[in-house]
Amino acid sequence: MRIISRRRLLAYASKFSAQALLFSFFWDKAFAQADPGKTGLFKLGVASGEPEPDGMVLWTRLAPRPTHRRGGMPNEPVKVAWEIAKNSDMSAVVGRGVATAQPDSGHSVHVEVDGLEANRWYWYRFKVGSEYSPIGRTRTAPAAGTRVESVKFAVASCQHFEQGYFTAHRHMAAENIHFVLFLGDYIYERQHSKRDHVRYHGEFHATTLDEYRERYAQYKSDADLQACHAAFPWIVTWDDHEVVNNYAGSDDDRDRRRAAYQAYHENMPLRHSSAPKGADMMLYRRFKFGNLLEVNILDTRQYRTVKPCDGKWSECEGAANPDATMLGNKQEKWLFSGLQKSKAKWNVMAQQIPMFQRLHPKGERRIKTDKWDGYIVSRQRLLNFLSEHKTSNPIVLSGDVHGNWVGDLKLDFDDAGSTTVGSEFVATSISSGGNGKNRKKRARKFIAKNPHIKFFNRRRGYLLCEVTQDRWKTDIRQVKFVEEKGAPIKTSASFEVKNGVPGVVSI
Ligand code: FE
Ligand code: CA
Repeated sequence: MRIISRRRLLAYASKFSAQALLFSFFWDKAFAQADPGKTGLFKLGVASGEPEPDGMVLWTRLAPRPTHRRGGMPNEPVKVAWEIAKNSDMSAVVGRGVATAQPDSGHSVHVEVDGLEANRWYWYRFKVGSEYSPIGRTRTAPAAGTRVESVKFAVASCQHFEQGYFTAHRHMAAENIHFVLFLGDYIYERQHSKRDHVRYHGEFHATTLDEYRERYAQYKSDADLQACHAAFPWIVTWDDHEVVNNYAGSDDDRDRRRAAYQAYHENMPLRHSSAPKGADMMLYRRFKFGNLLEVNILDTRQYRTVKPCDGKWSECEGAANPDATMLGNKQEKWLFSGLQKSKAKWNVMAQQIPMFQRLHPKGERRIKTDKWDGYIVSRQRLLNFLSEHKTSNPIVLSGDVHGNWVGDLKLDFDDAGSTTVGSEFVATSISSGGNGKNRKKRARKFIAKNPHIKFFNRRRGYLLCEVTQDRWKTDIRQVKFVEEKGAPIKTSASFEVKNGVPGVVSI
């Protein structure tokens, strides 16, 4: 939906005042229309995402009774007015319009705003009847190709509602950053560990659209999560639990995938072009931040071949099967051609699962083949590509394993002297796995077995990344506990990668 800028409105007012009047008449009418007989429509908060230099997506979903069928909404479309302003009190409005929340989209609204100025903050809100949503803050990306001195963002994943409070989101909302990268396990389709470990989750395993909607409604009712969505645009991708544990795209439960993907799109600040088509949903895409940074958002779930085996890794023929793929042909080609064309100083692959090799100190049977370790030919192709094409400063960001991991991507992981191609930062969970531990002894054992790995712990929190022309810096931000509310946040370790000098260094 195009926005009408203030400048353009003024132009209309002088040249085509009738048009301006007509426009404001429809906008006022939408704001003044009879409400749908419900109040408390904005209990799931507001969000924004997909930041571009001239706009972004604004999101909300009407749900006066969040975990009830249809969120407690009538089975009919509802007009939702929106506006975006240059200041937090919404007095300098630069765009407004009316969207329709359809029942078959769970009464969600995805407004695609454009025509904005690059690299600045904006504020937005929605209105239905006489009710306003909370005001959210969002930001445009820097203009394409321009020299950008610094981009800051947080990386998070894995928020099991039952296993902990989202305290980390509350702290993230107060960080000095431009956007959030969320790398999957936004919901969990099923109960984990002990029943109602920290808070009520519901015992059903989500398999139908209504059940997935209920899960999102429950998670999105969390005030800490809402605060973080309202503070920054989010760039999201999914992992397995948005559908079912450790699934691969080639699994054949397409009905379940259709339901899960539909609910995912309804609940994320994504574009209409990302809406699922049946059981397929296009989620890999690229974001550019001036000449400084390109972020390739990957989907390692939908197109992968099935997990090769459990058993002993060295005997796992599937892991070395040249036909096995993590990204699928089309996505891999898209990634390679994007990397080849990129003029950015830093090239990020933001995806779900750890990419570097993680030999387990307790033996080969423990190696996780749901990760890139189960798809080693696919991984080698990518590492070879980065090395051969001298991709500028490759950085991999991942999540999934409920621990912080930092290390290097080697051309040959079994040879500590081989070329370092790039570095990887694995974000821990927001809450999955409960309080977590430092696991210092385990870390020492892992590092002894995998010299390219520099850091590991099992605390909860997120990564804070600051990218400049000269260096990449990542702070491991961690909360002390998640099974009770109110934990403080601290930086437990910091790492940097210098421009043009591959390899992560502790600082
Ligand atoms: Fe997880
Ligand atoms: Ca996962």
